[in-house]
Amino acid sequence: MRTHLLIPLLALATMNAYAADKPASPKTALVIHGGAGFVPKDSISDEDRREYHAALNRALDAGNKVLGSGGSALDAVTAAIVVMEESPMFNAGKGAVFNAKGGHELDASIMEGHTRRAGAVAGVTTVRNPIKLARTVMEQSPHVMLAGAGAEAFADTHPEIERVPNNWFDTDKRRKQLEKAQQEEAAKGKREARTSDGDAPTYFGTVGAVALDAQGHIAAATSTGGMTNKKWGRVGDSPIIGAGTWADSRCGVSGTGWGEFYIRNAVAHDICARVAYRGDSLQAAAEEVVNKIVPAAGGDGGAIALDSDGNIAMPFNSGSMFRGWIKPDGSRGTAIHEEEASAEATRRR
Ligand code: ASP
Repeated sequence: MRTHLLIPLLALATMNAYAADKPASPKTALVIHGGAGFVPKDSISDEDRREYHAALNRALDAGNKVLGSGGSALDAVTAAIVVMEESPMFNAGKGAVFNAKGGHELDASIMEGHTRRAGAVAGVTTVRNPIKLARTVMEQSPHVMLAGAGAEAFADTHPEIERVPNNWFDTDKRRKQLEKAQQEEAAKGKREARTSDGDAPTYFGTVGAVALDAQGHIAAATSTGGMTNKKWGRVGDSPIIGAGTWADSRCGVSGTGWGEFYIRNAVAHDICARVAYRGDSLQAAAEEVVNKIVPAAGGDGGAIALDSDGNIAMPFNSGSMFRGWIKPDGSRGTAIHEEEASAEATRRR
């Protein structure tokens, strides 16, 4: 009698151990970007190129570690973004671009697809990892988006959010970009703002991540310093849910590009809406929005997108987009320009 009871119990224990070790579904996937922009190949030194690829790989590793142990897409995108915010190579966190006053105002957002929860911060100045604050807004406030002094005050009530002086974000590279932008602006007759028919910015550099976890859930996140020489508290698309970031139960997107056009065309949401309402493939939807609708309006940039089958799309029309991916079959890669994609896509996780 006792043995009869013991055998099913042992079987149950074995099954639980198995379930804990192995994800419910093998279909995890991760895609990241470190910004789209016009970065000519020969303008990147070999050393910088190596560091870009290394930083993208570190971000992939951080996100993939979460996914590989059965963690959530939300944790995976947070982990990947934090790595890129900490790297001075990208325009997010350390290494963020300078605004017109020589300071930094950072924007970030995060969204979880199956719950439609979202959090965002805009114009924060002392938060070391804005993506963590965006997530805290999502999880620990009744709101979706906090801006400026209010976002800083909210951060004050969360001691786990690390604070730094604004000049902690400074880098020489970004200061030179500000000086150049301001000289060009002065040379052009003191034009004070870009207009839709003005010159396109040459470099963006925002970071983003979209992940599919073993439970089939999708999350997307984006973090940025915005655009060099921005004025008057300018907020771009990155912290705006539906413009720079979107996730629903079958699709997630993070955008990078000329933010004004991404806002006006609700780029991230439009890509996923095409998948949901028209049954477009992820690739077709992302290509159409990024490479037709945005340029037709006068903008440019790129996006990363991922669906619940683990398909990944990474269109861009800006000459380059720093990017990395791990597909459900385990193949992975990082790339900057167009033709690198296949060459770099050889490593297996
Ligand atoms: N989209 C960002 C913005 O307009 C810039 C970028 O993608 O690098 O703020």
